[in-house]
Amino acid sequence: MVLAYCAEAIFTTSSRGTTIIRLGNYQFYLAHRSKQMPESYKRHWVCTRVRSRACRATIMTVGDQIVKYRNEHTHV
Ligand SMILES: [Zn+2]
Repeated sequence: MVLAYCAEAIFTTSSRGTTIIRLGNYQFYLAHRSKQMPESYKRHWVCTRVRSRACRATIMTVGDQIVKYRNEHTHV
């Protein structure tokens, strides 16, 4: 299933060398980076404002596809 917002999502690397997803004005980082996971594994991303703004927005990806987007930002 290809969702409309996938076209706007950009996988990139932050200045710290961690992988992040840019989606519109928002950025997400991996919630769990404990170990290397296969590409086929579901990965859970959280908004970078999760701590500073208690943001609840999350993304789920499989490979480079976004399969779920919980668009509940507590900020602009
Ligand atoms: Zn957010």
